[in-house]
Amino acid sequence: MDCLFCKIIAGDIPCAKVYEDEKILAFKDINPQAPVHVLVIPKTHIACADEITSANSGVIAHIFENIPNIARLAGVKNGYRIVSNCGEDGCQSVKHLHFHILGGEKLTERMA
Ligand code: 5GP
Ligand code: ZN
Repeated sequence: MDCLFCKIIAGDIPCAKVYEDEKILAFKDINPQAPVHVLVIPKTHIACADEITSANSGVIAHIFENIPNIARLAGVKNGYRIVSNCGEDGCQSVKHLHFHILGGEKLTERMA
């Protein structure tokens, strides 16, 4: 499959790793939009939030169970924002489900 994030998981494309276990990978965004900008992805290919089902949602729970630790490892000290863009209107550019963790400064109140 021609998926950028699957290639990062496979090690074919390098990344600045923040956290990894058997189910998920967290790495720094290549084009950060905040002082801390980390992407958290499932190692299984799920295209976007629309594709989350009762059969694959265990890894989503696992991501959220680990986000506080990932945010701490990334250097966040005073809160953060979690974002997942989905589909055309959501401006999703990489079609492998990912959660942005943004922080390291006071973010804007406006989200869209
Ligand atoms: P989306 O727009 O799909 O919500 O987010 C995709 C994110 O992936 C963007 O913030 C973009 O900067 C990031 N990104 C795209 N290509 C790469 C890459 O090769 N390496 C890393 N670390 N991030 C990438
Ligand atoms: Zn993928």
